[in-house]
Amino acid sequence: MQGKIGLEEHFAIKETAGDSLKYFRPDEQVAVTKKIMDLMDVRIREMDEYGMQMMVLSLNSPAVQAIYDRKKAVEIAKKANDEMAEAVARNPKRFRGFAALPMQDVDEAIKEMYRAVKDLGCVGVLVNGFSNIDDPENYKYLDDPIYRPFWAEVEKIDTPFYLHPRDSMPCNLHQVEGHPWLLGAAWTFGVETAVHTLRLMCSGLFDEFPKLKYILGHLGEMLPFTIFRTQSRILKTGRGIPAKRPLSEYMNDNMWFTTSGQFRTQALWNTIAEFSSTRVLFATDFPFEEVSDACTWFDNCSISETDRYLIGRQNSIDLFHLTGL
Ligand code: ZN
Repeated sequence: MQGKIGLEEHFAIKETAGDSLKYFRPDEQVAVTKKIMDLMDVRIREMDEYGMQMMVLSLNSPAVQAIYDRKKAVEIAKKANDEMAEAVARNPKRFRGFAALPMQDVDEAIKEMYRAVKDLGCVGVLVNGFSNIDDPENYKYLDDPIYRPFWAEVEKIDTPFYLHPRDSMPCNLHQVEGHPWLLGAAWTFGVETAVHTLRLMCSGLFDEFPKLKYILGHLGEMLPFTIFRTQSRILKTGRGIPAKRPLSEYMNDNMWFTTSGQFRTQALWNTIAEFSSTRVLFATDFPFEEVSDACTWFDNCSISETDRYLIGRQNSIDLFHLTGL
């Protein structure tokens, strides 16, 4: 399919490129650093080869979220957003961007969100999980009460919010001790991001801000497959949950799911069956996954041509109000 729009397409700036190296073998690291920092011809050539018209760019992980010094976090978020905006201005038909936000300082995060969306033209914001604040050992999830004013502004500015994975805090990794092959994208990213999303839903966030538009990668970080059981047990036991509605209703009303890194037709069918093809968006997870793998799978997977067009292109145009393509 020509004209695909990709939703989880990472880049890095000089200060954050090192964060991604541990996810690659030593012999791949030089090439991947070049690839993730390129916002010009090399990336566009690859997009052209596989029918991707556009990448909606986002900073690599954890980047800003792991910079516990507040001032530094604000500075790096601004620098990354400025560099991304320059790339978009050079090639507006090929790139758009999600803003990185310094969640270490809620007021600054709100300010940067407005600057990025209103002045720089970002089409959404993307946050890499929890943030380390003031001290590497101190971290906060986004259901913390300090973030309620932030969510109020996300709803007010009406921009989509993408929760992207990061590594869990070491204190939460006992389950995979001795099994380093399960770290990161292999397993712990998904669990970390699913739990974070459950925390947000259970906290009543979507009751308080019912117009939030929330995006998950990797076909929903396992939640489309597991939410029935989670919800049915919560309905039976309750345990004082603040959320007013069944969790699957928030997923139906507030969430979109991208195909990043989950190039599996059966998993795609499940997400479509639970939440409809209008809630699924194409993505690759560049450069952690190959554009060729993502596109070859998506172009040939067993779905209707109507769904392929919606997921590959039209749903993103509608959700992000993309014009001038
Ligand atoms: Zn990613």
